[in-house]
Amino acid sequence: MWRLIKDILPTRAKLKNKGISLDLLCPLCHLEEESASHLFLQCDLMKFTLFASHLGFHVPLNTDLHYWILKWLTCQDALGSQLFCTLLWKFWTAINNVVFNGIQLEPVRIAEEAMSFVQEYNAANPIKRGRISSSLPNILPAAPRPLFSIFVDVGCCVLGPTTWGLVIKNQDCNCVFSACKRDERYCSRTSHGGGVGN
Ligand SMILES: [Zn+2]
Repeated sequence: MWRLIKDILPTRAKLKNKGISLDLLCPLCHLEEESASHLFLQCDLMKFTLFASHLGFHVPLNTDLHYWILKWLTCQDALGSQLFCTLLWKFWTAINNVVFNGIQLEPVRIAEEAMSFVQEYNAANPIKRGRISSSLPNILPAAPRPLFSIFVDVGCCVLGPTTWGLVIKNQDCNCVFSACKRDERYCSRTSHGGGVGN
């Protein structure tokens, strides 16, 4: 996270600026140059990872990467902020595994690993959590977590059909049911619905 915020993450775009000659395309989607903005805002694999996570949200359109990260780091949801940072870290690690070890990137697995890491970290650091809680009241959820979280999403292409998606997760953030539906409804411009949780 520190390197990402300092804009010194060694993406291929950064390495090019240092005079290193290499394939500049994103190693995940092979569609655009691998920059930090592409990896964490635009790459479909990142979008899938965030949507598969317990956060279950869409990457906002037309936003600045650093502004977006800053909003997460300063938000009142400490648990969400922890999970967001862990997801980005795990995603970057997964990219390196693709490049250097040939291991396929799996968004759902990254989402599950990130959640497990946060839970394990918080269980091992109860004092620190107490400090955070006392300095920033109401940021850690006191209410019991719901048995299930339901995420619904819809998207449509330009003059294309509409596609609906549904994911139900249990308290451990594991997917227990998923379904999608293609609907022959057409719209005049590209759009995405917002994910709905709980
Ligand atoms: Zn990509």
